Amino acid sequence: MQAMRTEDYIALEERYNARNYKPLDVVITRAQGAWVWDVEGRKYLDFLSAYSAVNQGHCHPRIVRALVEQAQKVTLTSRAFRNDQLPLFAKELCQLLGYEMMLPMNTGVEAVETAIKAARKWAYRVKGIPDEQAEIIACAGNFHGRTTTVISFSSEEQYRDGFGPYTPGFKLISFGDADELERAITSRTAAFLFEPSQGEAGVVVPPVGYLRAVREICTRHRVLMIADEIQTGMGRTGKMLACDHEDVRPDMVTIGKALSGGLYPVSAVLASREVLGVFAPGDHGSTFGGNPLACAVAREALRVLVDERLPERAAALGERMMARLRRIQSPHVEQVRGKGLMVGVVLKRQAGGARRFCEALKERGVLAKETHEHVIRLAPPLVISEADLDWALDQVEAVLRMA
Ligand SMILES: *Cc1c(COP(=O)(O)O)cnc(C)c1O
Repeated sequence: MQAMRTEDYIALEERYNARNYKPLDVVITRAQGAWVWDVEGRKYLDFLSAYSAVNQGHCHPRIVRALVEQAQKVTLTSRAFRNDQLPLFAKELCQLLGYEMMLPMNTGVEAVETAIKAARKWAYRVKGIPDEQAEIIACAGNFHGRTTTVISFSSEEQYRDGFGPYTPGFKLISFGDADELERAITSRTAAFLFEPSQGEAGVVVPPVGYLRAVREICTRHRVLMIADEIQTGMGRTGKMLACDHEDVRPDMVTIGKALSGGLYPVSAVLASREVLGVFAPGDHGSTFGGNPLACAVAREALRVLVDERLPERAAALGERMMARLRRIQSPHVEQVRGKGLMVGVVLKRQAGGARRFCEALKERGVLAKETHEHVIRLAPPLVISEADLDWALDQVEAVLRMA
């Protein structure tokens, strides 16, 4: 049989796989650290990091070893029985991030769903909001995942179109405006759910002081502050959690993506005993949530973040990247924004969209993805070397100087 080529894989995928994505036409077969290799043997620097799931770099040897070793022992017990990894994972994660309790799930959106359920039950059982009346405030431009409840409060028309009827109980305000939050709160408000920086919206960073103002307002009105740190967390923005930039501790945090270093879907919700204590046996669950393989992988992924000082690395390399990008003379660039190694290059309307720049970057050996048509997102694994980063930025500069 003849070896399969790029176009053969693409043809199979187009035929048998639902077209819910529009990927760049590169077929990856191997990866290590910040680099990936395609089936033609070409190599690329990964500037997407699987939407920040591989902060620790692809196939980190320590995390791979933890996965293999645990896979040879026990992978799944279900929560009908206990396993010897979950208690240690729970303790280590809570101690690292400073919370009393956690609840493990698998994908990011499941963590968000869990936070919504916890907030509603807390509102009825603890805060005393009348049954069925609890309201959650979220932000325009939000991205919290793709379930029917979560897309119910998306402001992105395409994410909702054709998927109604929608879950009620959500209200949208603009992101980055604390006064608007204060005005939107009523006696029925249970929680404010937001991203500390909006990733999918095109790397939107709120004004300095926003997180502190949100904390103060939520405390004063006894509204749960829920930070979705699935993308911003685990060192991406230069701190372990993005809320650490303003020394703010949300009532609930959702994490996922890099929680496992990209080896396995692992997510979690962290909160106080007052909040997560509302769940009684049978209220909520997941067959795979908290399984020993996930817990062993996540424990090692967390240790790698700490041992390799990856948040600090993201802060230093992020400053280097931002300074370089801001020096680029290009007729296409409107703004460069971001925090740590999560940066968006916002293009002018007349630049013809970000996709063509991402295609050109691919030809030069850098994989990046447009977000929201006019933004090139640059988010390499946090382990990227300074030399590789500089080389990739040479390529970014070259494509931004194209006609
Ligand atoms: C990716 C993401 C999610 C959803 O995570 P999945 O694992 O894709 O379900 C939720 N919130 C934010 C902020 C994200 O970036």
